[in-house]
Amino acid sequence: MNVAGAPEANGRRRAPRSWELWSLPNDLIRYLLLAELGAGLWMVAALLSETVTRSELIRFGVLAVLLAAFQQISPRIERMRIRMADSHQIDMTSVWTFAGVIALPAGLAAVMALLVSVFMAVLRLRAGIHPYRQVFTAATVVLSCLTGSAIVHLSAGPLDHLSGGAGAAAMVLLAMVIYTAVNTSMIAGAIFLAARPLPVRALFGTAEENALEVATLCLGGMTGLTVVYTPWLTVLSIIPLVVLQRGALIKQLEVAATTDPKTGLLNAVAWRQIAQKEIAHAARDRYTVALMIIDMDRFKEVNDTHGHLVGDAVLIAVAEGLTAELRQYDSIGRFGGEEFVAVLPEVDLETARGISHRILNRVRELEVFSPDAPAVPLGGFSASIGLALYPDAGADVEALLHVADSALYAAKSAGRDRVESITR
Ligand code: GH3
Ligand code: MG
Ligand code: MG
Repeated sequence: MNVAGAPEANGRRRAPRSWELWSLPNDLIRYLLLAELGAGLWMVAALLSETVTRSELIRFGVLAVLLAAFQQISPRIERMRIRMADSHQIDMTSVWTFAGVIALPAGLAAVMALLVSVFMAVLRLRAGIHPYRQVFTAATVVLSCLTGSAIVHLSAGPLDHLSGGAGAAAMVLLAMVIYTAVNTSMIAGAIFLAARPLPVRALFGTAEENALEVATLCLGGMTGLTVVYTPWLTVLSIIPLVVLQRGALIKQLEVAATTDPKTGLLNAVAWRQIAQKEIAHAARDRYTVALMIIDMDRFKEVNDTHGHLVGDAVLIAVAEGLTAELRQYDSIGRFGGEEFVAVLPEVDLETARGISHRILNRVRELEVFSPDAPAVPLGGFSASIGLALYPDAGADVEALLHVADSALYAAKSAGRDRVESITR
């Protein structure tokens, strides 16, 4: 994991790729430097205090060669994944770093982590990610390795004497938990200092990202054990790793193809497909479905008065509001511009009106902040909503959208900041 995410709070969003180190808050700079100093000192101390055996050096060599081989095979895929990543970026390098935790003495494991970081930094620098973030990421990985390694050696002693019993398994699991905990909490610290309060969703990532991280760590644990017991077999790790990485890229492409990048809602094409499926379901099981178009009022004026950045922050906040007000099985999309759509299965017209009023209230109470005057909340926004009900208003999505659009037009003509529906 690395700190690629743009922490956002109260609709304020910063472009992380353009952050300069010296424009960061002072306490964040101190935190980053402290992490780097701590990682550096601990690594040197570990290296000076340990004696490295010949077999440990061979393990290090095997892992380093495999790392280099993997970087030769995979950079195109990894570069694509880095460019597409918006928030969390699970980079799969923990296969090598975590294998090092299991199979190497602490200092050497830290050197392995550093080596991995250098390889990744080259890729990320080319993708335009700022160098200080690479250094901090390296420090978190090194510290995660050193603490993981300390646990391994405290709880079990050198792995060679364990001969793979239940103790070894428990130790690998414990090290995995500690490694992840150190990594996550260090990044949490940085995100907190960059954007208080801590945006929990930005920190913990999606279920898929976490699954990928766990899968990578599992593979790292097994690679670590293989390199101890049958070093030459370690080469097999590359195959599942490449497959895992391709799977991750496909998932990212799928998300990119169906998501509106500004708000994270469904894009128009994906929303239409889902709405069609919902209507087909409703036709089979004979229930009603409400379709809703939500259009911001006089949004051109918002842009003209406060600028496009504030306009964008409003759109993001409206998207968050819609997600909060609607149920998990309602599908929400951004249709373009300042227009949103939602499909609500098993909802009648009265309920849809009630929900619409809640949404309108939320938009009225919305506050966002301008980058020019971050202390002064801006408000006074409103939206209009047009409703259409399946099957009364139409038999398919196109017909329903047409009716909802007419209802929206009626709401605008009647003075805006209201919900209308057309009954036939
Ligand atoms: P009405 O109440 O009749 O809907 O008025 P309106 O100004 O909202 O309607 P109109 O469709 O004329 O203008 C929509 C405006 O929304 C135009 C454009 O400046 C703004 N807009 C569209 N997309 C975006 C966007 O992604 N970001 C920002 N900031 N503004 C956008
Ligand atoms: Mg509008
Ligand atoms: Mg519009």
